[in-house]
Amino acid sequence: MKKAVFLDRDGVLNEVLSDRVKFVNKPEQLYLLEGAAEAVAEINKEGYEVFVVTNQGGVGLGFLKEKELIKIHDRLQELVNEIGGHFKEIAYCPHKPKAGCECRKPNAGMLTDLAKRHDIDLRNSVMVGDHERDIEAGIKAGCKTIFIGAEETKADFQATSLMEATEIIKKILR
Ligand SMILES: [Mg+2]
Ligand SMILES: [Zn+2]
Repeated sequence: MKKAVFLDRDGVLNEVLSDRVKFVNKPEQLYLLEGAAEAVAEINKEGYEVFVVTNQGGVGLGFLKEKELIKIHDRLQELVNEIGGHFKEIAYCPHKPKAGCECRKPNAGMLTDLAKRHDIDLRNSVMVGDHERDIEAGIKAGCKTIFIGAEETKADFQATSLMEATEIIKKILR
């Protein structure tokens, strides 16, 4: 079984609610946060699979077409590839926030599905997010958790950026 790092997308890898972008509805609105691509490459170098797990309720609500979301994710993969990083898979929940599906975080469906399909040891894997629903999904899946941000959290660890989280990951996954 392999160890993995699951990353939330918005606010962990790319900007949202910043001066130049509100939500990412087109590939051109994708601005990686400083050091994010380098952090992914660093985690890959340690030998861990890296997955993105993102709630994209805008698809279900009709703000964003699934085809456009896939283009955004192709762009995300491309930007990270340029730095030498690689996502094994970018998983998303396209359902309406209130649909009650198993995949939308704080539920653990995306993580458990990826684990099954890619032979991942969830107990020796990490979920990184900037919202408590990410942390709850990680806890439900049985992962270790890292919260990015200053707010109070149930997460095992707290960091200010993905690069800082990567330093923690290197210590806790061996
Ligand atoms: Mg987020
Ligand atoms: Zn869903």
